[in-house]
Amino acid sequence: MEQAAYSAPTRRTAAVQQKTSNPTLITETAPIATSSHGGRAKCLQRLVRLDLPVPRTVALSFAQVHDIAAGKLPDMAELLGHFGEQPLLCVRPSSEDPDWGGPGAVLNVGMNDALYVDMCDRIGVEAATSLYIRFVQGYSTHVARLDPDMFDELPMTGREALQQALSAYEDETEEPFPQDPAVQLSGVLRSMARAWEGTTARLLRQAKGAPADAGLGLVVQEMAIGLGKGECGSGVIQLVSSATGLPKITGRYRSQSQGREALRKEGQSIYLAKDPRGPSLEELAPEAFAQLIECTKLMRRKLREEMQTEFTIENGQVHVLDGVRINRSSRAAVRIAVSLADDKVIPPEEAILRVEPRALNEMLHRQVDPDAERVVIARGIAASPGAASGKIVFSAAAAQASAARDEACVLIRRETTPEDIRGMHAAVAVVTERGGVTSHAAVIGRGLGLPCVVGASDLVFNVKRKCVTTPDGRTFREGDQITVDGTNGQVLDGAAPLLEAAQDDAFQTLMTWADAFRDIGVRANADTPADAKQARDFKAEGIGLCRTEHMFFEADRLTVMREMIFASRSADRRAALDQLLPMQKADFLELFRIMQGHPVCIRLFDPPLHEFLPNTRDGMRSLAESLDRPLSEVTHRVEELAEHNPMLGMRGVRLGITMPEIYDMQARAIFEATLEASREGALVVPEIMIPLVSAKREVELVKTRVETVAAEVRTATGRDFDYRLGVMVETPRAALRAGEIAPHAAFLSFGTNDLTQMTYGLSRDDAGRFMKEYVQQGVFVEDPFHRLDADGVGELLQMGASRGREARKDLVLSICGEHGGNPESIAFCRKAGFDYVSCSPFRVPVARLAAAQLCV
Ligand code: PEP
Ligand code: MG
Repeated sequence: MEQAAYSAPTRRTAAVQQKTSNPTLITETAPIATSSHGGRAKCLQRLVRLDLPVPRTVALSFAQVHDIAAGKLPDMAELLGHFGEQPLLCVRPSSEDPDWGGPGAVLNVGMNDALYVDMCDRIGVEAATSLYIRFVQGYSTHVARLDPDMFDELPMTGREALQQALSAYEDETEEPFPQDPAVQLSGVLRSMARAWEGTTARLLRQAKGAPADAGLGLVVQEMAIGLGKGECGSGVIQLVSSATGLPKITGRYRSQSQGREALRKEGQSIYLAKDPRGPSLEELAPEAFAQLIECTKLMRRKLREEMQTEFTIENGQVHVLDGVRINRSSRAAVRIAVSLADDKVIPPEEAILRVEPRALNEMLHRQVDPDAERVVIARGIAASPGAASGKIVFSAAAAQASAARDEACVLIRRETTPEDIRGMHAAVAVVTERGGVTSHAAVIGRGLGLPCVVGASDLVFNVKRKCVTTPDGRTFREGDQITVDGTNGQVLDGAAPLLEAAQDDAFQTLMTWADAFRDIGVRANADTPADAKQARDFKAEGIGLCRTEHMFFEADRLTVMREMIFASRSADRRAALDQLLPMQKADFLELFRIMQGHPVCIRLFDPPLHEFLPNTRDGMRSLAESLDRPLSEVTHRVEELAEHNPMLGMRGVRLGITMPEIYDMQARAIFEATLEASREGALVVPEIMIPLVSAKREVELVKTRVETVAAEVRTATGRDFDYRLGVMVETPRAALRAGEIAPHAAFLSFGTNDLTQMTYGLSRDDAGRFMKEYVQQGVFVEDPFHRLDADGVGELLQMGASRGREARKDLVLSICGEHGGNPESIAFCRKAGFDYVSCSPFRVPVARLAAAQLCV
């Protein structure tokens, strides 16, 4: 496969130590490489090969520039010899990756009194004077390091102004302005080389991902002068919109200008194509305009990338100074990649590689307009992407009331609990003071596609007064308008302008291509019919995790659930559960219908029971009322069920074994729904998953009861059905003992949220308080709840997978923790032989693309 014009930079360690040679004139065959001369030099060579009108250019390698910084200059006579008599030059940086930055370009090097006289004849006194003044200014600030303010008062035109600029230089440096082009050029080269090696510049580019030894190349190019007689000027042009990727000739052009002046806001620049709003290059210089379009099209075809052409027009004649990959939004990135492949410029597999999977997240949610002004009032963890504006509410009840009035609201809570779910459904966004990326608010927010910022700990809550105070002392009350930017983890004052989500045809095409390549399945974590529909819209191949507890929070169910919790005898418990049975059955039936025969993996009840009980005095009083029991009894039961660390207490399978009626009811609901759904449509083979297992015996006990329920349903209905029972690996012991668990399980699904929590001994709800500090101090490379800890938790995954498979060859392996949607974890799981990953519905496209990238 031909190399992309702008392939990702490769890491090298010894780039700057290579042998020094002479600067190289860029020709079709000159030995120029991105890894030794930088991206700009390599691109210019490609443009030369395309026979584009590129001014003569000489490239200096990383090694040569490094030598220059150390005081070892190349032979200046030889360098200047490439450019003939009285050259006028510019020097531009050429680093391996343009995103790493670099010193600014210096234009008009070589300008001196003699050339000035000549230039006055060629381009006119005014243009020549302005050009000389610009150079004196540029040289003074960049090379002689004089204060740029010293020129503030000077006019930019007129011989007198030129004299003043030259005198100002002489006064400050006590030397005449250098006239020798060799002296000028060596000064410019030295200053640019040293600027690159400065500590601040190094730290800045390292922050952008540059290696410590990243080199700088320089290109010395003959100036195309955008000033003078006839149509002269400079600008940039591109053929598609950076925002949408759709065809649109855009760019800027300014007559009588040089370098990137046309891009500055101040001053008059004109449109490229004809435009009713003002004059255009197309009208001023139609031939040059047409030639630029052809050049840009040629670049797209041959460099295999959508390019922006940087150009100068000199008396009507076009010079191409550079070509750069156009800036693009995520949406445009998808459209550009697909259209390049549609036009057979690149193959579809390369289009798949050209889009960063995480960028799809941005496309699938509304975003704050990048050009909008942001008044940030709080920062936290970007827990669920997207942006939304609404009025502040502080309780789930207020959120529901607000939704009933059709008013958008943002739910702000210290942290959310399952009781807040209805409020979260009613809100357009959620902010919490506490919590990390796998806290309740984060998990539910991602599931619902709801923008969410968690761990906004610099907000001071005053629950009683229903207000929060920001670090700078501003108070926000219920009803105040804010915007939550869950992509960047920011809370903004007021209603920021938003950009709509875009799932356009290009997105669908890219996804279809991705599916043809990938070899690991992608399912969704979905608890409700709405989640399941979303999952199918994003073409998830099934549900990998249905957290059934989320079904018990509807108002009518919560009361029955609480009755069940208060029942002290098994028979009473069963009576309450009998009321829940038809509701659960209806839930499952709905999911089976939506998934149309695609697998649905239902996790049996997992959370500790106290999560279903009120925790305030008011709540307990109203519970006592609705259960018709004395307040003292309610309070006593609530205290009895309270646990200091509920995540390690009576939850998951432990609850299933000590109160087996709950799982009995769920199994019955699943089987009855299975029979009903299979009669209506595609055959359903449900998957039942046991949470929080740590011992083989737990699986045996649950398995026996589930089998008994299955037998009862078969007998009662006279019909047969299949199902698969599996185990969720969430405790380190389950991973270690996978070999003895696997014979009892058709599948193992790794719940890496709890597995991470238990491997580190790190509470997923409280870790947010110090996570930032831990990452800053390098204890953790990244939040392990966010990025799978490949070394520790990953080792347990590998161990569990291989021990499980050894014991049972047809064991199906998957991951359903929040890591399931991360490209790195997907790569890890694929390598470990997993069959599928399961993630929040909105991350399904990200996972599909990331999985495909591993296969092309
Ligand atoms: C897990 O622990 O990884 C998991 C998926 O379950 P939950 O997040 O519901 O605890
Ligand atoms: Mg779990």
